[in-house]
Amino acid sequence: MDAQGSATQDGLDRVRVRGAREHNLRGVDLDIPRDALVAFTGISGSGKSSLAFGTIYAESQRRYFESVAPYARRLMSQVGVPDVDAIDGLPPAVALPQQRSGGSARSTVGSATSISNVVRMLYSRVGTYPPGAPMLYAEDFSTNTVQGACPTCHGLGQVHDVPESLMVPDASLTIREGALAAWPTAWHGKQLRDSLISLGYDIDVPWRELPREQRDWALYTDESPQVPIYTDRGPAEVRQAIADGTPPRYMSTFQGVRRYVLGTFAGSKSARMRERAASFIVSVACPECGGRRLKGEALAVTFEGLAITELAAMPLDDVAALLRGVLEPDWRPSGGDGHPEQLLAARRLVTDLLARLSPIIDLGLGSLSLDRTTASLSSGELQRMRLATQVLSQLFGVVFVLDEPSAGLHPADTESLLGILRRLRDSGNSVFFVEHSLDVIREADWIVDIGPGAGSEGGTVVHSGPLEGLRDAEESVTRRYLFDAPQPSRERRARREGDGALELSGVSRHNVRDLSVAFPLGALTAVTGVSGSGKSTLVVQALPELLRASLASEVDDASAADDGAAPADPLTQRVEAETAGRAHGPAGRLRRVVQVSQRPIGRTSRSNVATYTGLFDRVRALFAATPEARRRRYAASRFSFNLPAGRCPTCKGEGTMEVELLFLPTVHAPCTTCGGTRYNAETLEIELDGRSIADVLAMSVRDARASLTDDAEVNRHLDALLDVGLGYVALGQPATELSGGEAQRVKLAAELQRGQRGDTLYLLDEPTSGLHAADADRLLAHLHRLVDGGSTVIMVEHDMRIVAEADWVIDLGPGSGDAGGQVVAEGTPEQVATSAASRTAPYLAAALA
Ligand code: ADP
Ligand code: ADP
Ligand code: ZN
Ligand code: ZN
Repeated sequence: MDAQGSATQDGLDRVRVRGAREHNLRGVDLDIPRDALVAFTGISGSGKSSLAFGTIYAESQRRYFESVAPYARRLMSQVGVPDVDAIDGLPPAVALPQQRSGGSARSTVGSATSISNVVRMLYSRVGTYPPGAPMLYAEDFSTNTVQGACPTCHGLGQVHDVPESLMVPDASLTIREGALAAWPTAWHGKQLRDSLISLGYDIDVPWRELPREQRDWALYTDESPQVPIYTDRGPAEVRQAIADGTPPRYMSTFQGVRRYVLGTFAGSKSARMRERAASFIVSVACPECGGRRLKGEALAVTFEGLAITELAAMPLDDVAALLRGVLEPDWRPSGGDGHPEQLLAARRLVTDLLARLSPIIDLGLGSLSLDRTTASLSSGELQRMRLATQVLSQLFGVVFVLDEPSAGLHPADTESLLGILRRLRDSGNSVFFVEHSLDVIREADWIVDIGPGAGSEGGTVVHSGPLEGLRDAEESVTRRYLFDAPQPSRERRARREGDGALELSGVSRHNVRDLSVAFPLGALTAVTGVSGSGKSTLVVQALPELLRASLASEVDDASAADDGAAPADPLTQRVEAETAGRAHGPAGRLRRVVQVSQRPIGRTSRSNVATYTGLFDRVRALFAATPEARRRRYAASRFSFNLPAGRCPTCKGEGTMEVELLFLPTVHAPCTTCGGTRYNAETLEIELDGRSIADVLAMSVRDARASLTDDAEVNRHLDALLDVGLGYVALGQPATELSGGEAQRVKLAAELQRGQRGDTLYLLDEPTSGLHAADADRLLAHLHRLVDGGSTVIMVEHDMRIVAEADWVIDLGPGSGDAGGQVVAEGTPEQVATSAASRTAPYLAAALA
């Protein structure tokens, strides 16, 4: 607690920004109090992030770089210095942005929060060991160390198996007829078959009649003998030729079927080959550790009767309850009285663990377990987990810069979020956050409202001061939502009754058990519930999976708008596919199912907003049609930065080069040949209305709509992007730099511009995250238009203003994790608002009032 100290360092108790011009900011001058909760508000594209992240946080980063690495100064001109005249009184900054891409595969809630380290110490020091077993070190309990990992699966928990039933699905076929289905099909397959002839196999008897020994060798051998190949000769002739010593056509390396499958899966460059190989592989739990990934000695140690893997699989709520029991005065370790020093160690470690768990649980994450991979968390959950970890770091005198900390939070969980933010502030930190939730904005000490519009119509400070002052800021769009009473005349559209229903029964996955639920077709349904109640499990995971499985004939294309994502490892996909249940609905009523998820679009910077939506194809065609391009015979492909003809040869169209910094993470700096444009000089000479192809990619959607071209197809794409609130993004914005919410809206835009087809089911995951109330209203109007056109929308949603406008609400709960997974209330918003059991009801009632 040292608020004073941090403020007097430079004699200022304010952060003073002068002349900020980053992106659309128009020479912003601003004084912001330190040691306060400061909300940055404004519609999408108004310039909130440009100010909070692009200016304030970037400047702090720049100073940090300069202080730790003087030689890095040279690089600063390349990595970017924010466009601002001066910032005074700026404390060091810690940014907690929404995660923009998936975390590392082995990172878990336990490792990311360091809680696992303490748990391992607990097992090492206080665990109950089998009689005679030596005491283990903490590292022995980690699946990520050589000491700890199961030696058979190296800590993966799974081994790959290629069962005979998959390699040879029909044992009545002969080898010539293709009994070995897992073998390659073209010439390589024929070559392997010819090898078997030379090795003395009869390839014309049914597989099942071959001697067991021969079958096993062909399938499982790890030898790779060189075999003479005589093409176009029958078995008898080949035997004769070998006996005669006739030189073969060539020598070939034989590979057993299993070895071929595993080798192709692990090593093939072709995604199709890998996928085909994967179809012959099953992952089975490691026989040694039973999938628990630890070596046996470590698994044998228990605490409160649980192996460390069992503790790691429990919801954090339950872990905390168990640990609180350990702090009871009469607690003793199981199987002994415990030495005084062991009891002391237990108390100390458990107290530490509880202190680490409490902010995580307070932030609505109590249903997570320590072994949950961070890659499976939503971006909002991940940000809150990092936030909880920061509270414990005892930092003071820093400014935290957050991006929509309320994302993914039910209103009932918002109070604890505010508690954590206040705790950070009260221990002497500044907390600056971009936020859209009106409930959170109201609780800020200070509000910086940017706008009034987006892009060139924004970029000024509309209001900077306590909440009340915003009341008088006439221009502010935010003000209307915070203070204006909903117009009494505002007519609520009539609730749709729907037309038939999509029924799910017996759904089981995660905390959802044997659930039956019905979604009205031809209506807009909002699925609500506290964090961890099972909303994503139901809508994002189970629903599409069951639709694919049960309604296959009626579903055209299960995830059309989602196919830009890099294909997941087919093996893990298969392991994940675990939903039990059935879907049924009126036949023919659902022609397509489109899941628009928050999963990132592609994983490379080579995919961007324009390429993903298909807009870029049209733009390239327009460039190729210009007189100069035709004179030079440049085809549309010339204007792709992914193809050699048009792209910059130095960076191969990346636009950036990696710069290694000693002791610091690698930095991407703009390519010096093309200046980051990605194209070669000749290609850039072609202009469309005075703009090069690189200029076009740098334009925002809004600017492009205003002045790029009057081409109808281009404008249809741009209008769709504007409608989902993405007017501020650049056409060339790399997919990797989109937040989850933005990625979802890009997919939605791509889907919307395809036009109305009706009979489509859209599955959305919190579509309004990252959207100002005004933008959310626009998006909602669009969704209603889809439903008016005969489609069905089912969305997870937290914003009660939006839920109140749905036709139907399904509220899950009542709590999270094991205490959730059931339908607590369903009906029209008015009906759900009166449910006594629902934690959503009071908030929904307030929004309906
Ligand atoms: P907000 O955070 O309020 O949604 P941003 O600060 O992201 O808005 O964007 C404000 C303006 O700056 C928009 O017009 C946007 O197009 C522009 N902008 C944002 N990022 C960049 C960038 N990397 N390069 C150029 N312009 C950008
Ligand atoms: P919500 O979307 O309502 O916040 P989720 O569907 O994400 O809730 O989570 C419901 C329950 O299922 C929680 O207990 C959560 O920990 C668990 N869960 C969700 N995803 C996974 C997963 N990939 N692996 C294991 N458990 C999961
Ligand atoms: Zn194992
Ligand atoms: Zn280049």
